[in-house]
Amino acid sequence: MTALRPGGEDFGARLSFDRGSPGRRAVDVPAWAGEETPLPDAALLRDSVRLPELSQGELVRYYTALSARNYGIDSGTYPLGSCTMKYNPKVDDLVASLPGFAGAHPQAPPEDAQGTLRILLDLRRGLAEATGFPAVSLAPAAGAQGEFAGVLMITRALEDRGELETRRRILVPDSAHGTNPATAAMAGFAVTQIPTAPDGSLDRATIEAELDGSVAAVMVTAPNTLGLWEQGIEEVARLIHEAGAFLYGDGANFNAIMGRVRYGDLGFDVVHLNLHKSFSTPHGGGGPGAGPVCCSEELAPYLPTPVVEECPDGLVRFTAPERSIGRMQQFHGNVGVLLRAYAYLRALGLEGLRAVSGQAVLNANYLRALLHGHYDLPYDRPVLHEVVFSGSRQRREHGVRTYDIAKRLIDHGFHPPTVYFPLIVEEALMIEPTETEPPEAIEAFADAMIAIAGEAASDPETLHAAPFTSPIGRLDEATAARRPVLRWRPPDEDGE
Ligand SMILES: *Cc1c(COP(=O)(O)O)cnc(C)c1O
Repeated sequence: MTALRPGGEDFGARLSFDRGSPGRRAVDVPAWAGEETPLPDAALLRDSVRLPELSQGELVRYYTALSARNYGIDSGTYPLGSCTMKYNPKVDDLVASLPGFAGAHPQAPPEDAQGTLRILLDLRRGLAEATGFPAVSLAPAAGAQGEFAGVLMITRALEDRGELETRRRILVPDSAHGTNPATAAMAGFAVTQIPTAPDGSLDRATIEAELDGSVAAVMVTAPNTLGLWEQGIEEVARLIHEAGAFLYGDGANFNAIMGRVRYGDLGFDVVHLNLHKSFSTPHGGGGPGAGPVCCSEELAPYLPTPVVEECPDGLVRFTAPERSIGRMQQFHGNVGVLLRAYAYLRALGLEGLRAVSGQAVLNANYLRALLHGHYDLPYDRPVLHEVVFSGSRQRREHGVRTYDIAKRLIDHGFHPPTVYFPLIVEEALMIEPTETEPPEAIEAFADAMIAIAGEAASDPETLHAAPFTSPIGRLDEATAARRPVLRWRPPDEDGE
């Protein structure tokens, strides 16, 4: 048998089912000495269930080898732009896993859950303070769900103003995350795209021309997905309110401005945060998350249920705002993520948050300076949390695409950055180093990017075929999408 060493063999080709030998067991269970219970009706039984048959040692080595093939923030730089893949202090996981929190029943009466509820109340107040809004609901379980909540709140407010029939459009910049137009469309609005001006901010003339009595809201990401500050956002907010519309804020990039700028002060009406990005929850692989919505006095009655409140009797309870849009999901949101955010916020305080955003911005600008001249920079001005390069020069001069550059980074030992987003940047490479990368790591990443730019000129064929060091190289993406292999079959059933 081949040694189970990382790099020793093709794990994708041999799963646990194909290893070991019949009768081998990871655990010996003593024979049952009690009374026997009859089996269910024979028609309900499968006559053979194939399970992996391995010894405990084999099994542990198998999973250890598999886990070593995973690339995560705990193994190295993870520069995925927009996602804020920063290092998450382990103590926050520890706090969330304390038995008093982790073992609490979601339907426990409030009298028995005052500890957890008080913490959620404190977190609510902390986020209100940090964003400059009077009201917060912690219920949404993701950024996208927070957006949906915010737009539904605007919908209800328009209904109460008697304007829902006439205000049927939402303006969304062309640099927005896909969840923004998707949210507007799911809430039943028509989406009007606003172009980005050459300086990377919203095109003011188009906004002014579009703002009329048919506009319900404008969704603005601040800082935007180019990593740039939205110039003159206060003035845009004023224009939007003059036109009777709401200003929705996508606060997924709060990491760049925490402790320095507050959405409420800028004139936003409602904003969602991504606690799993800015407030320390590991979120590779799609979750879990939390997307609290923070809003103005006017929108507070519409917040999603539940909202934690201190009641007159001194107890903290989950309450339902009077005109609430309702529940986004069962129970109270992703409490484990909220606990991590609370621990992070309390550990850092205002000064700490300021230090985080300052370092995040410094790191992105350091990377921008290191790579300047090696890759095109379509919006060439100082950035905030991330920097968006373009591989269009490499494509034009050497036939190498951003996709090739991203794949080659794997051979250089790095997770690739976000590619082909934002959509307005050709061959986009969106890089967010975050505040937790030390300068040496940023330099090493820049060295790899510069080496790849050199390879693009000297050896484009290598880039087209990369990666070479991963268990699986390039996938046939069309076949993977059209004829996916989604389950293991025993060899004798192959080809079904
Ligand atoms: C990540 C992100 C979202 C969506 O958040 P999810 O938690 O993934 O649903 C929305 N907008 C921006 C700018 C983002 O970066």
